[in-house]
Amino acid sequence: MANYILDGRGGVCAQCGEEKRSLSQHWVKSATCEFRPLDDAQHEIVRGLLLGDGTLGGRRRPSLEVQSTREPHLRWLHRQLGWLSRGITQDGRGVYRLRTMSHGDLSEYESWRPTPPSNWELTPQAARVWYACDGAVGFTSDGARAQITFAASNDEKRTALRRLLSQAGFQSAKWDRRVALNRDETGDWLAWLGDPVPGSEHKWATSRAVYQRLRAERPVWKEGRKYPDESLLNALRNAADDLGTPPSKGDYDRWHPEEYPTGQTIAKRCGNWHDAIKAADLDLVEKLREYGHEGNEYPREMIYAAVREADHVVEGPLTREDYRAWRAMERDRGRMIPSLTAVIRPFGTWQSALDTILDSA
Ligand SMILES: [Zn+2]
Repeated sequence: MANYILDGRGGVCAQCGEEKRSLSQHWVKSATCEFRPLDDAQHEIVRGLLLGDGTLGGRRRPSLEVQSTREPHLRWLHRQLGWLSRGITQDGRGVYRLRTMSHGDLSEYESWRPTPPSNWELTPQAARVWYACDGAVGFTSDGARAQITFAASNDEKRTALRRLLSQAGFQSAKWDRRVALNRDETGDWLAWLGDPVPGSEHKWATSRAVYQRLRAERPVWKEGRKYPDESLLNALRNAADDLGTPPSKGDYDRWHPEEYPTGQTIAKRCGNWHDAIKAADLDLVEKLREYGHEGNEYPREMIYAAVREADHVVEGPLTREDYRAWRAMERDRGRMIPSLTAVIRPFGTWQSALDTILDSA
């Protein structure tokens, strides 16, 4: 079941001035109020999403959906889309989804499936959204040089994206399932896009050291052509952090960035996937049995204790960002602390987690 963590369906209709629980339903049913047209900024965001893995559904009045494991990223998109966004939901696996309302103006993007029309040219506004969603930055083995790549699973898409990049003045190459910008153009690309996007700041880093600081993730690196053991395990720990639970091999493979080892590499080195999870100290199921709990979740006691401790350490009201930062610090000291997602899941929202846990102290 997906729960709304941010519900944007309702609002005040600018035409009749009334507050409605669902603007789209109001506009469908009303005899006097009509669908508000998308403005240019909203169109640019929609185009940026369609360059990446945004999916358009429905015919006459389509809606657009985008998925991410990064909640701050979707919150940013929600703010940018304004009244067009219905909000953000989270499913049981910790994946976040933003969906727009169904809107007739989106039907013009039928012609964007599977690739944008040949007469459309890439703008920095659309490119910024595209990069924040589906771009990645990787680094040379010394960590000093950055290279930008984009996900593109089929050849038709890779060709179309390279054409758009070339028209905008950027040289690129086809990689396996990706398009890569020429490494000399990383700086020009970031300058062309403008300011870093909230929730995706790490993609604006031009050295690995800065990238890791912004992502608060453990280092994953290669020595020659090989990932050292600790580097492999860090990849797995970062995945568990991001996904909110120790990942299955399939989940890991869908999640992992280009510069990370594959699930196969990790499993082979450790013997099998289960041994890898154990070696990374992520074998929650076994740890939880010691607490008398079943299933792949943190026991309530651990969640309560973690939130209370974080609240005690942080001055002022405890925000999600505070909790994340505190957890990253404690995990660096080798402690096992539930992720933000794991804390929120049993309560539905961060606020109700706080209310329940801190009130029961
Ligand atoms: Zn109205």
